[in-house]
Amino acid sequence: MELRFYNTLTNTTEVFHPVHADCVRMYSCGPTVYDFAHIGNFRSFLFADVIRRTLEFFGHRVHHVMNITDVGHMTDDASADGGGEDKMQAAARRMKEDKKSGKVPEGAVQNPDDPYQIARYYTDAFLEDARTLGVKVASEYPENILHATQNIDAMLEMISQLIANGHAYVGPDGVVYYSVESFPAYGRLSGNTLDRLMTGAGGRISDENQANKRHPADFMLWKADSSHIMKWDSPWGAGYPGWHIECSCMARKRLGKDVIDIHTGGEDLIFPHHECEIAQTCGATGQETFARFWMHARFLLVEGEKMSKSKGNFYTVRDVLQGRVKDDKGQPTGVSVHPAVLRLELIKSHYRGNMNFTHKGLIDSAGAVKRLHDFRARLEAATGGQAESVDLSYPILRDFAAALADDLNIAGALGVILPWAASTPTDPAAALGALNRMNEVLAIAPLQSAGAGQAGANDEQAEVQDLCRQLDDARKRKDFAAADSLRGQIQKRGYDVKTSPAGTIAEKRLA
Ligand SMILES: [Zn+2]
Repeated sequence: MELRFYNTLTNTTEVFHPVHADCVRMYSCGPTVYDFAHIGNFRSFLFADVIRRTLEFFGHRVHHVMNITDVGHMTDDASADGGGEDKMQAAARRMKEDKKSGKVPEGAVQNPDDPYQIARYYTDAFLEDARTLGVKVASEYPENILHATQNIDAMLEMISQLIANGHAYVGPDGVVYYSVESFPAYGRLSGNTLDRLMTGAGGRISDENQANKRHPADFMLWKADSSHIMKWDSPWGAGYPGWHIECSCMARKRLGKDVIDIHTGGEDLIFPHHECEIAQTCGATGQETFARFWMHARFLLVEGEKMSKSKGNFYTVRDVLQGRVKDDKGQPTGVSVHPAVLRLELIKSHYRGNMNFTHKGLIDSAGAVKRLHDFRARLEAATGGQAESVDLSYPILRDFAAALADDLNIAGALGVILPWAASTPTDPAAALGALNRMNEVLAIAPLQSAGAGQAGANDEQAEVQDLCRQLDDARKRKDFAAADSLRGQIQKRGYDVKTSPAGTIAEKRLA
């Protein structure tokens, strides 16, 4: 079966073949750790996770790398050279207030002025959310999540190479700029031309530092700034790197020197971030292209509106899991959501359409997750849990695969699996085998894919999830003594026990 993906670079759907047959190399832009990640961020991270899992479903080995931006991402990031201030610096200004309001627990960030402590706190929160939602790179391969601040050397090296190759220069203000005119392909990914950028179309050129640049669209690689909250020595003075350079460097460092297979991100990263990444990598290496496939997930809306803090419809992953979602009338629901339900809600609509996150959608997703859990329970009861391995000739699995192969048509794949899950297959062992394979991609029934090698925090999570399942079983049997004892065991591990349409939920108590 041919796998097809839509490629932003060529604006067409293309058949996917890896550059090297033995391994697909894939890079995803990760979070900027100055705040809790919101559900729009996670739509993009889960989209990347589904690509990874789909590739694995079709038998590819995948090397997936993601970054953590803990320096250099400016508050005004719509223009290439990013005006405003470093988001980490902004977070440090905010931190005392966040601790006072209880958004950040007392004791979590000992020194609110220390950007490294802030970055560590939000990195841990991100990794916890990512594991909770079944993002495989976070739960099984955390060594492939790289931090910008730990890769400054690679950035200094690439910047020097760009200067040597005539693609970068030191401006009179001491900032190292990339010269966009030195790279004729600049604008190919986003469809921008230098002429259009010159006229400031879409406000994509900031007014800052114009006098110091050769071209107004030139963007920052290194900023010498001895007053910055995080700084490193460099040949151009102590300072900090631009946001774009980190991804070019970390992709190369971990995925090797060849053109990579897939680069993912949210659509807001197409310009300037990904356009700049291409210019840097190709400028430094002489490669014709950085990644073969550029894949982007579109925006997330909430009840049809743009998510914004001022509208009160801005949700982090924690807000949703802990029951702070409002219904379509803006009334608080107070109902906590199982992570599998949120995962399904965020992956179920096609990534190339805007996703509308709604309370009704969550209820539908809860119903779908419950149907799949019940189906699994019936198949396990019928087979004693013995699954038969099946290949793509198994009809339901073939239809599911065909939908996925068609540019990740998850809605189509769910259209195959959900009606089937309401049936009673005559071959339960094979059906269980097929369900297991489908769940390797969806990862919602159960949330963690079968056989996942987890350690530490995930062992505990798996254990607690297992206790929740036992608790649901005890309730079904009306064995209330057993249910009480299981509830006590979960609580003793530091979790609150709640019920939801998808069954018992254990929520880690906040510190
Ligand atoms: Zn990036």
